[in-house]
Amino acid sequence: MTNTDYTFQTKLLHNDHKFDKATGAVSIPIQQASTFHQVDFDQPGKYDYSRSGNPTREALEDTIANLEGGVKGFAFASGMAAIATSFMLLSQNDHVLISEDVYGGTYRMIHDVLGRFGIKHTFVDMTDLNEVARGIQSNTKVIYIETPSNPLLKVTDIQAVVKLAKANKCLTFVDNTFMTPALQRPLDFGADIVLHSATKFISGHSDVVAGLAAVKNEELAKQLAFLQNSFGSILSAHDSWLVLRGLKTLHCRLDQSSRSAFRLAHALTKEKMVEEVFYPGLSYHPGHSTHIYQAAGPGAVLSFRLPDENAVRLFTKHVQIPVFAVSLGAVESILSYPARMSHASMPPIERRKRGITDGLLRLSVGLENPDDLLKDFKNGFAAIKKQYSASEASGQL
Ligand code: PLP
Repeated sequence: MTNTDYTFQTKLLHNDHKFDKATGAVSIPIQQASTFHQVDFDQPGKYDYSRSGNPTREALEDTIANLEGGVKGFAFASGMAAIATSFMLLSQNDHVLISEDVYGGTYRMIHDVLGRFGIKHTFVDMTDLNEVARGIQSNTKVIYIETPSNPLLKVTDIQAVVKLAKANKCLTFVDNTFMTPALQRPLDFGADIVLHSATKFISGHSDVVAGLAAVKNEELAKQLAFLQNSFGSILSAHDSWLVLRGLKTLHCRLDQSSRSAFRLAHALTKEKMVEEVFYPGLSYHPGHSTHIYQAAGPGAVLSFRLPDENAVRLFTKHVQIPVFAVSLGAVESILSYPARMSHASMPPIERRKRGITDGLLRLSVGLENPDDLLKDFKNGFAAIKKQYSASEASGQL
């Protein structure tokens, strides 16, 4: 049996880097070196300088390529470094078609940075294939998807968008942060580059900021390797090791967290104070069937809408288990407030257009017992109800 025959769960542990070939150590060594001695300048060694290549980083890069089904992987200093470096495949006057509710940092990159270099963009509702087809221009070079999207968990049909992209000679980039290759493998559907904030589920312990990319073909691999070396926003050897360590437990973490998220999403739909729940695991979610087709599970992130900012304030003050923070995909549950956190870089009018209202909260479910989370959330909702019924009684609502 070779690694390619293994299921994902086994591949996470049994791959080319299950032990160090030089010593047999069952943990890849951290090669904390910036440079490498060269015996002969006519025949340079495999490694010369750690920006261009480092054995620990390479172990991680091979691993993500293997897990995503790509020919080559790349590790960057952050998810944004991975995304920004990939955008550097574009040139002046090229055009990008991009999901309208992308992560706020990606929005900022495309809207406030790439434009200065003459790269054009159009935000579209990527779930509407007619809108996607209409948005493609003669100079469109990249279609950029986030599915499920952040924070509204909108689902894009990867295969259908790839088909449109190929017919128009565009590349497809997919941000796979919410799913990871444990649940969704965009390269299998024909995407060209898959991107990750490995800060999230892939490393999983809120202790490292990292980005990953995996590419479908050798030509793109060459181009991205050139850009990675040119921009130099590489992941350090130590952080590469941390990500490799986190990856080993990805399957069981995501499996447990997704099951808890499913329970919580259902419970939230029954809460009086919750106006809407966004989770692709709910059968009435508009992207449910597409998601089931292209992903192996609904994941561990959901969002829900409370009436307003005041309700958010009361809720976050009264729940105690989740950390209230920017980020997601960790062993501890993380509650975050997109309007002021992940999407603060999006102007309020753009946020409202996308449904990122002041009452929207995003929850990344961790490894706590879901019964404890449910009880904790009840306290949050009770605090809102108490204040709302007091205001109702005094005629203030
Ligand atoms: N993509 C998504 C979907 C994200 O949620 C994030 C960060 O929250 C990023 C990309 C950026 O990653 P990083 O914070 O590691 O730069």
